[in-house]
Amino acid sequence: MTLHYGSLYWPATRPNTPAYPALEGSAACKALIVGGGMTGILCGHLLARNGIDAIVIDRGKIASGSSSANTGLLQYANDTPLTELSRQIGEREAVAFYRECKQAVERLCLTAEALPRDVGVKRRSSLYFASVEADVQKLRDEYELLDRHDFGVEWWDGNRIEREFPFRKPAAIVTHGDGEINPYFFVTALAEDAAAHGLVIHEHTPMLSVAGEKGKFVVETGSGTIETEHLIYAVGYTPEEAGNEWVKAKLTRSYVIATEPLPSLAGWHGRYLLWETARPYLYIRTTPDNRIIAGGLDEPIRRPVMTKSELGQRSRRLLAELKRLFPGWEKELAVAYEWCGTFGESEDGLPWLGEDPLRPGRYCALGYGGNGTVYSAIASRIILDSVLGRKGGSAAARAVRLDR
Ligand SMILES: Cc1cc2nc3c(=O)[nH]c(=O)nc-3n(C[C@H](O)[C@H](O)[C@H](O)COP(=O)(O)OP(=O)(O)OC[C@H]3O[C@@H](n4cnc5c(N)ncnc54)[C@H](O)[C@@H]3O)c2cc1C
Repeated sequence: MTLHYGSLYWPATRPNTPAYPALEGSAACKALIVGGGMTGILCGHLLARNGIDAIVIDRGKIASGSSSANTGLLQYANDTPLTELSRQIGEREAVAFYRECKQAVERLCLTAEALPRDVGVKRRSSLYFASVEADVQKLRDEYELLDRHDFGVEWWDGNRIEREFPFRKPAAIVTHGDGEINPYFFVTALAEDAAAHGLVIHEHTPMLSVAGEKGKFVVETGSGTIETEHLIYAVGYTPEEAGNEWVKAKLTRSYVIATEPLPSLAGWHGRYLLWETARPYLYIRTTPDNRIIAGGLDEPIRRPVMTKSELGQRSRRLLAELKRLFPGWEKELAVAYEWCGTFGESEDGLPWLGEDPLRPGRYCALGYGGNGTVYSAIASRIILDSVLGRKGGSAAARAVRLDR
């Protein structure tokens, strides 16, 4: 299953990643994680750091799935605004869920900062702007709810936005406590750290079939078998691999460009992460080497475009959006990398995380949604609690019941 097409920027920042051997023969562990992307490695890292005997297998290379197509924005505010989520699951649960997302961003930053390598992690604020005047009232409602629950947000009117950025928008919410990361560098460096703490990793090792039940599953990989007590599906945007009847994913595709480095990004207030109320929305950030990364133009098709001309057409549209926002840089703005990636969402905007009620011992770690990385981090906590047999206090585990 192809998850992306084009020239990806992040893998170019780390061409020589460590390789892990394919499994040959038999192995046994307490927890087997299928999938070595952001989710699988975050889960494996946390399990290994807690002394749990775990194995991660990937049918390809670590971080070569959607995690390398990720734009690396770490934001607690969801594609489903808090006002909307409150209508769906009640204000108390929705606020608890948002708080957990905010804590997850903080934990991700701390984890990344503690790694021996620089994985491009930076604390950032976000500017969530009204795309059109008609969106201002619903944005204001969102601001008031976030403010009432002490999320520490600010309301900026058009004049304030224009003072801090080269563009004017009708209004915006500024959120603090977000971040950005180089997702490919992060996953590969985290895998190294996890391996140093006992996580066993096998690349080029597919899960072909599973037999048995909770307490003793046997997974067949073609060149070997693995016996495990707990089986965790961190298979990204190929939900069929998890074989779970609750997961009704909406699989779409999204486009991204990374520009050539700019001489200066002066005038971009605090290098804020930018996104907007339009759906699909544009999402924009900077990189440590002064590039701009812009994503968006989502289309309701699972398979990425597979030709350079189709991709180029979308890239030109993204570049035109950037030039509209930053007219002073019109001449310098040029596409250096462009790609299209499959993207997974759910109808209610919540991910699928936790133990399958119909198949005890099997867990979904499917962080579908715009801030999938944040969900991956939450997944790792839920999985740790489950493997340790702890009840856990996760608001996310309550809000995102697998069988909803
Ligand atoms: C264009 C784009 C931009 C994005 N931007 C952001 C962003 O700014 N912020 C954010 O938080 N999120 C973002 N996301 C979402 C983010 O990329 C995902 O949440 C994240 O990549 C999911 O990681 P994963 O580990 O679940 O999936 P993946 O990285 O796809 O990893 C799954 C792995 O499972 C393996 N696998 C599958 N089946 C098997 C099997 N049977 N046996 C063995 N291995 C198997 C695959 O080989 C793959 O390596 C973006 C996504 C896209 C596409």
